[in-house]
Amino acid sequence: MIHIQNPQPDICKAKTFHCPNCQKRRRFLAEHTEWYGWKFTCLTCGDAWDDMGDRFGRPFQRGWREAAVADARKRLKLCLEHKARGGGIGRKHGQGTRRQSR
Ligand SMILES: [Zn+2]
Repeated sequence: MIHIQNPQPDICKAKTFHCPNCQKRRRFLAEHTEWYGWKFTCLTCGDAWDDMGDRFGRPFQRGWREAAVADARKRLKLCLEHKARGGGIGRKHGQGTRRQSR
């Protein structure tokens, strides 16, 4: 049996950085996933970097940039909707988690 792991980001937001590929300031989708760390996807060119500044591999596929941008925009929309609803992503900290010591 193959178990496909599909971890959901626990933090995600829109960020603006200088994109090394576009050579311009661009909007990025920033996603943080437990164990995997940060992933920053440029919403213009579709390239992605991790928090060490290493670029993720590019698929050998025609039109992958368009697909990567569309996917990143979709994930950003989902994540912002989740936030608006107070769902699993972007949970509030320090509420109901503090334990009385006695
Ligand atoms: Zn870019």
